[in-house]
Amino acid sequence: MEMVNYIVVTGGVISGLGKGITTASIGKILQFYGFDITAVKIDPYINYDAGTLRPTEHGEVWVTEDGGEIDQDLGHYERFLDKNIPKDHNITTGQVYYAVIQKERQGKYLGKTVQPIPHVTDEIKSRIKKVAKEGVDFVLVEIGGTVGDYENILFLEAVRQMKLEGENVLFVHVTYVPSIPTLGEQKTKPTQHSVKLLREIGIQPDFIIARSEQPIDDVRKEKIALFCNVHEEDVIADPDIDNIYAVPLLFEEQNLSKKILKKLGIEGKKKGKRYREWKDFIDGVRSLKEEVRIGIVGKYFDIGSFKLFDSYISVIEAVKHASWKNGFKPEIEWIDSKDFERNEDNLRILDKLDGVIVPGGFGLSGIEGKILAIKYCRENNIPFLGLCLGMQLAVVEFARNVCGLEGANSTEINENTPHPVITYLPEQVKIIRESRYGATMRLGAYPACLKKGTLVHRLYGKDIVYERHRHRYEVNPDYVEILERHGMVFSGKSPDGRLMEFLEIPGHRFFVATQAHPEFKSRPMKPSPPFDGLIKAAKRLL
Ligand code: GLN
Repeated sequence: MEMVNYIVVTGGVISGLGKGITTASIGKILQFYGFDITAVKIDPYINYDAGTLRPTEHGEVWVTEDGGEIDQDLGHYERFLDKNIPKDHNITTGQVYYAVIQKERQGKYLGKTVQPIPHVTDEIKSRIKKVAKEGVDFVLVEIGGTVGDYENILFLEAVRQMKLEGENVLFVHVTYVPSIPTLGEQKTKPTQHSVKLLREIGIQPDFIIARSEQPIDDVRKEKIALFCNVHEEDVIADPDIDNIYAVPLLFEEQNLSKKILKKLGIEGKKKGKRYREWKDFIDGVRSLKEEVRIGIVGKYFDIGSFKLFDSYISVIEAVKHASWKNGFKPEIEWIDSKDFERNEDNLRILDKLDGVIVPGGFGLSGIEGKILAIKYCRENNIPFLGLCLGMQLAVVEFARNVCGLEGANSTEINENTPHPVITYLPEQVKIIRESRYGATMRLGAYPACLKKGTLVHRLYGKDIVYERHRHRYEVNPDYVEILERHGMVFSGKSPDGRLMEFLEIPGHRFFVATQAHPEFKSRPMKPSPPFDGLIKAAKRLL
């Protein structure tokens, strides 16, 4: 194929429709036909990237292999497409304006008046086209926010221009069709209004994907088709289902990929073995009966009167992938570490679990509760996996309670601790500043050399692994000797041996922690080794 095809996904009516999953699913069905797919997420906020966003603001911060701190939708793309997506596949208003203003300061506009149209839209188009350079067949472009928002208007204008300029562009609009209980029917009016807004901007959708609780019926499809100027067959039902990874199958049942290919004039392509694999995988997951109960001890849970699980989405997905692969249905328990600080008797709830995860985090709240949970898992032989902050606190707990280093802590939590077992390594800051991202965090994939004969080495089956990082603090090398002398094994270290990447406690059923975030590399059919190990240990299969 000579020309790349763009599929632009916009959203209407409400946010939170799962546009990222819809976008990833469209990519997936095209992958079934053997096409090479990539995806771009546009975030209309002014932040340069998601690195400074609080998790309760915008869910999890996704970390790419090349060290980008990105919107979590890129995580869906990677998991569905089974492909690493680099950081320049996340475009924000902040990046676009920053580039335009820099060019203006450098005199690159040759004295012209620099304006939103065409200068900002040109910058947007060039960034979208840049990702297409890799020889892919399809680029999915997901535009964040909702049509009618003030802040995404220039992005919509840019993709409108792309089509006019002769690029192969299809527009997919994801909307919501609510069921009003007092009326007892599904209402299409919000969809009609949303498409009207889109058409005012000059974009006519090719497909409308209707999110709803129950599948929309033919009467609703007909109505949407008529009022939104699309063919009835191009209105695709997207009801709530049991498993996000089944959305591609839902689209495939409605022949969405064939309809897309037909509109683009692409003929003679057949579904390949990737479709069968995906279908068998979903069928397998749906037939699972036995549960595995995993507790996630975290914070960030409450926002107003609602609980938000988005901040741990990759951890949740990694638990699912590992559970499914081992033949279990995951049952995730949300545990607020502050409950343990209030009353240590609450720790007993951990007895009911098959395994416990202490995930990453920043800041002070809930720290002592997490340390109590780790101690309880260690002393009661409950399978435990610590991720990033979870590893740091496992070191703090061990230092205090096994090595007898009273008051041991991370300097992030107590700067004046007598035993800074976790600390900020000035040499790291220097290395990061000079060679990587100009920031103070260790970001992206870094190598770890695994020690032969350890559990971690056995789980990965490799001598060197690359996992993604996002943190400032490290295990203090000055304390490694005393920790090891008391029985903690550092089973993975940076190639120079200075940074502790993995730890374990031999003799425990499963006590493993890592400074990295292995959850970012877990894929539906390829679980992350530490998660796989946790599930196996949880069910005594290790
Ligand atoms: N707050 C810790 C650090 O900066 C851990 C970060 C994390 O868990 N991602 O090192």
